[in-house]
Parts: sequence; C-alpha cells; structure tokens
Amino acid sequence: MEIEIQLTDRPIAETILSPGQTGAVGAWLEFRGVVRGEENGQAISALEYEAYPEMAEREIRRLLQEISARQPCRAAKVIHRTGVIPIGETAIYVGVASPHRGEALALLAEFMDRLKQDVPIWKRRGLPVEAGRVTPCAPVSSTSGRQRTARPTLKSLDEARAEILSRSPPLPAVHAPLAEALGRVLRETICAPEDLPPVDRSTRDGYAIRAGDASEMFSVVDTIHAADWKPRQLQPGEAVRVATGAALPCGGLRVVMQEHVERNGDKFRVVRREDATNIRLRGEEVHQGQPLVSAGTRLNAGAVAILATVGSVTPLVSPQLRVIHFTTGDEIVPPDQTPQPGQIRDSNSILIRSLLRNFSCEVEQGHLSEDSKRAQSEIGNRKSEIENADVLLISGGASVGEKDFTRPLLEWLGFEIVFSQINLRPGRPLIFGVKGARVAFGLPGNPLSHFVCFHFAVATALAGLTGGEPPEFLRGHLAEKMDDKPCPRETLWPAQWERHDATPRLRPLAWASSGDITCLAAANVLVRLPANQGPLKKFAGVDFLPVTGL
Ligand code: AMP
Ligand code: MG
Repeated sequence: MEIEIQLTDRPIAETILSPGQTGAVGAWLEFRGVVRGEENGQAISALEYEAYPEMAEREIRRLLQEISARQPCRAAKVIHRTGVIPIGETAIYVGVASPHRGEALALLAEFMDRLKQDVPIWKRRGLPVEAGRVTPCAPVSSTSGRQRTARPTLKSLDEARAEILSRSPPLPAVHAPLAEALGRVLRETICAPEDLPPVDRSTRDGYAIRAGDASEMFSVVDTIHAADWKPRQLQPGEAVRVATGAALPCGGLRVVMQEHVERNGDKFRVVRREDATNIRLRGEEVHQGQPLVSAGTRLNAGAVAILATVGSVTPLVSPQLRVIHFTTGDEIVPPDQTPQPGQIRDSNSILIRSLLRNFSCEVEQGHLSEDSKRAQSEIGNRKSEIENADVLLISGGASVGEKDFTRPLLEWLGFEIVFSQINLRPGRPLIFGVKGARVAFGLPGNPLSHFVCFHFAVATALAGLTGGEPPEFLRGHLAEKMDDKPCPRETLWPAQWERHDATPRLRPLAWASSGDITCLAAANVLVRLPANQGPLKKFAGVDFLPVTGL
C-alpha cells in the first residue's frame, strides 16, 4: 500500500486530492477530524495538539501497514496538524483508496480508533473561550516546527498529589512470610489473640513470696525457670526461686530481688524491703482482642517483632512492588567511568535504587538510548519485565526538548498521561501516566529534581499502591531567614530538620539549580514555599515534607 504521512503545524488545505488524482480505484474515502467548540464539557476556542513527529510518523505508518494486511487498500494519506488549531479547522485528514468502499471504511474506522491509543500525538489542552478566539496560525516553512501561543495551566502540588493518589489505588494484598514483611503495608489489623503477658511473670531474678509475708526467714521450696510452668500455692515463710520471665506459681505474690536477700542453704533472710512487686501481671500490657498493629501501618522492625510475638507469621500485607527504572540521555556514563567532555556520570540510578530501599520493592534498572527507534527496540527486549512492573520510572527526557521522548514512549507503551508538568520548582517537567493498575513517572533528569519528585510524587504513588499513608506535610519554622526571590512556581526547598527543639526547626540548604547535588546528603525535609512567596524571616512558619530514608 502506498502511504503518505505529513505532520504539520499549518492549516490543512480544503482540497487534498481531486478525484482524478486518485487513479483507478473503486473507492476514495476522505475523512476530516474538525475541532469542535467544546472539550470535556467546557467551551473552547481552540485545541492545542502536540506530537513527537518522527515517532508519530513511524507509528502511523506501522498502524496503516498492519491494518491494511486485513483490509487491503491501495493508498492512504494522513495529514495531522499540531500546535494551536482553532475550532472549525481540521486537526486530522485521512484519505484512503481501495478496490471497494468496505475496505476503506473498515481501515479508516480501525485506524482512527487506534491512532489515539498508539500514536504519540496528544491533545495538550483546550484554550478557553475567554482567551479570545485564536487567530489561525500563520503558515510556517518547517513541518516539524511547533507553534506555542500560551503556556498551559500547570497543576498545583495539591492537585497533582490528589491525582496521583486517586490514580494509584491499593494493589491486592497478599499473605507474606514474616521475614519478607519488613517495609510492606499491613492490610489487616492484628489484635492480641490472648492477654499479654499471658501469665503473671517475674521481672527479676529473685524469690517469689506471698505479697504481705513479713516472715523473718524464708524456705526455698521450689525453683521456676523461664520455661517452667509449675502452679502451686505458697504458705507464709515459703519462697520459690524464680528467673526473670518465669511464670509465677499463683496469684497474690511479690518477687524479692536476689540482691536483696542473704541466702544460707535453702533458707534466706530479706535484707532490704521495697515496695515494687517486680511482677508483670497477666494482660497488664495488652488485653486479649485489643488492636496491636493497625491496617495501613508500614511494618518496621518493631512491628514485625510484635507480629512474631502473637504468632502472625504470614500477615496480610501489600505485595512487593515491582519497579523498573530506566535512565535516558546519551551523555550518561556509569559512575565507574571517567566522563569525556559532554558526558556526565549517572547518579540517578543509585539515587532511585537507594530511595526505593525504604519500600519493599524489587528493582530492575536499565538505560534507554536517546534515539527513539533504538529506545523502542531496547524497550521491546524488556517488554515482559515492563509489562510485569507495577511502577515504571524513566529518568530524564521528560521535558519538551527535541530529544525528550519520555512522554511519547509512555504513550507508545499504552499509558494514559494524567499530567506532564506541574507548577513545581525544581521538577516542573514531571510526567505521570497510568495503564490499568500500573503507574509510570517521567522524572526530570537533574538529580535535585529527581530527589524532590521522588519524595513528592513517586512516594505518594507507592503509598497509594501499597495502601499506606501518603507522605504528609507538617508544620515547622525556619531556623534562618531565606532570601528567595518570588517564583511563580511552588517550591520544595531541601532543608535540614534540626531535632533539638520542640517545634521542628528547619535550616534551608544552599542550592541554585536543579542540577545541584551537594545539598542532598544533608536534606531530610523539603520546605514548601507557596508560589510568589519571596523572602522569609527567621522563625517564619512553613509547611514541610519529611523525606524517608537512610
Ligand atoms: P533531561 O531531563 O534529560 O533534560 O536531563 C536534565 C539534566 O539532568 C541533564 O543535564 C542531564 O545530563 C542530567 N541527567 C539526566 N540523567 C541523569 C542521570 N542519570 N544522572 C545524573 N544526571 C542526569
Ligand atoms: Mg536527557
């Protein structure tokens, strides 16, 4: 089949082919997708389309070839317009020539269905009517050039966070062996199956006697070790030798510490009397049925110890997440190599791997070439790993430069892009996509943006997928003034929480560019500065996000 494809930011002509040009075919079918005055229920004056032309063209060709194997057609011509397209003008033109109209109709219908799904061309936004009717784009000479008339409205941090949470619902829980439960989120509340401690126990090595027994001398009538269970009553003047943790033989006793007696054979005298009973009574710590660890708790070392204590050996927990992370950028070299001029060592791989250690994850990593054809074949080689991953992370290439292909790559993989930028400094070009229960992030390549976007966005999705508590902003005050210039974006500023004060005291760390890395080791919080904030005085109250981790 003859195929002709054009991506252009110029208006599409009214007449594409005259009937004579279509040659000896049975049917020549022409379709035009025209911009309507409404998008998602909102009146608009124009739609803005964006595309990754090279990849889009390749995908359109592949699609047409694939469909024409089932619907034999002679020729197809596709013209897709990008940039701002006023209402009433054509966004896409498709012409199909075939022996009979049936094939042309079927090819067109399937092509239009799959175009949206498979081809990296997307509606960037609708322009509101209040912005005034958009004047048609002046024709430009290059078909790959892009026309931008206005900046899109960026999502606020709160909006982005809400979207991430709503699109990352908890994955089904699993029963996991306790040894693998650390870092997972408990998905059932574990209650005490019996009183804790289950019996009255001695808290000392010493001698159990009746609580009110004031005898001068005591006779040792038995010995109870920690593992023994020897119920019996005691008479005045009788004592039982007990070890720390030993179950006491009956109620109404107290334990005299061995340091407080003078022993002679099987007899002893109490040389120092104290008020403490040195007994931990049955149920004194927890009563049967009381909750011990609540659903939604991320299990730490202490929590798994509690579960072991009550015999919860295969608790219901979040599944271990499978995360696949790719770096991008032809300038990136492994950290053990000496970078040539123009190259840079990869710090994001180890940063991401280390940040993920705080969650229960299986992490696979790799690198993708900047050439989108090669990247697609590299992705193809790892398709099953990618399809099995709950979380796909791509470092770099998230912006709108010529070689920034993360967004089309995610779309090519079938992810729905929820947003591709947020009003954040550093980390504006943050892409979030979903495909069924899976989530994907395109993270801006700079290390500081990476750090910030991980804690703000990726950690939120991980919390959602595991059913845990998402990271929450807390309130603190600045340990010193900040001479920040007003910035139209909200800022998450790396800082250090100095823990020697009742209210969190936060010392801002120095950074000037999202490519900076030296502040990362000391950063244990991100201070949130509202858009256009400007300078802040010492002790100013601020919100901050504690960052997890080693
Ligand atoms: P990008 O988001 O691809 O435009 O990259 C922005 C900046 O981050 C560039 O200076 C990259 O060289 C840098 N960068 C990208 N990936 C990495 C990485 N894995 N490690 C360190 N720096 C990176
Ligand atoms: Mg790059």
